[in-house]
Amino acid sequence: MLRRWLAVLVVGGFWTIALGTACDAGPRQREPLGKTNPVPMHPAPTAKPAPVPARVAAIGYTTPLAPELRRAFDYAAFEPMPEPGPDDWLARHPEKPQSFQDYLRADRSVPNPQRNVIYLLPVGAFPATAPPLAQLATLVRAFFMLEVKTLPAVNVGDVTATMRINEGTKKRQLFAPEVLGWLTKRLPDDAFGLVAVTMEDLYPRPSWNFVFGMASLKERVGVQSLARQDPAFFGEPRPDGGQTLARRRATWTLVHEISHMFGLTHCTYWRCVVAGSNSQDEADRSPLHACPVCLRKLYSAIKFDPASREDALAAVFGKLGIDDEAAWSAARATWIRNGVRTVR
Ligand SMILES: [Zn+2]
Ligand SMILES: [Zn+2]
Repeated sequence: MLRRWLAVLVVGGFWTIALGTACDAGPRQREPLGKTNPVPMHPAPTAKPAPVPARVAAIGYTTPLAPELRRAFDYAAFEPMPEPGPDDWLARHPEKPQSFQDYLRADRSVPNPQRNVIYLLPVGAFPATAPPLAQLATLVRAFFMLEVKTLPAVNVGDVTATMRINEGTKKRQLFAPEVLGWLTKRLPDDAFGLVAVTMEDLYPRPSWNFVFGMASLKERVGVQSLARQDPAFFGEPRPDGGQTLARRRATWTLVHEISHMFGLTHCTYWRCVVAGSNSQDEADRSPLHACPVCLRKLYSAIKFDPASREDALAAVFGKLGIDDEAAWSAARATWIRNGVRTVR
């Protein structure tokens, strides 16, 4: 129970920080607003047309798009967001939905020719049991279709940040706000964002127990800890398939948090990697792919080829042993390219 309560604070803490600084984020781009999707024609002219569900309207008007893009943003294969359980994110944090149109109207950071690289910075040791950073970097590259560079690892002692020993776990923790301050001085000129990744534990305030991660969108820096994603952190045995679980969790963390850097707020429409998560358990139930609403937001910011993106994701998910997502992306690539559904 204690851990779950803490998780509420922790994820909420990141969110406050991320949203609180989003209005001052760096380079911005506005796009012309489109129309809403037309209401489908009903065969009986006197009958009222069926209302379009909000999760479908949120995708926006796709009719004028090229066939591949229309299929990329087609929702037929996606599952609606289920009703939240009492401890799930949406039950505890009733958030304002952000449709694609809302996203276009929002102040947001997008890459530009001068700032278009996502940098990852390993901080401290990554034991053999940790998720493989090189493959995670490939995953981030495939998900956002931007260049990703992994900087040389730094020692924990090189980071100018206060450390403490957590009273409960007896493990070392870094003071995350000071890590962010240290990162801002290392932001490369061509960086869209710089994310430190560490197996060290973090805390956001002296009165708080821990935090999974923090980010400053204004400064375009973030720090993510993978420490608590490993059951061994709590002295618990690693379950069968623990390595795949650790890779899945690290993937969720990175793509979810970096999506926030593009100005995406939590998805409320579909089962989606950008949806909020109140606990590790809820994050574990999340898919690792973006829904059509969130994919269209990312597309508007980055302008990738959706089918090539799915090819790249299928390859790296396969290498990470995350077979269900590899199959999903491979099927999506076929659907987007040829209009042939091979699954679901
Ligand atoms: Zn989030
Ligand atoms: Zn979504």
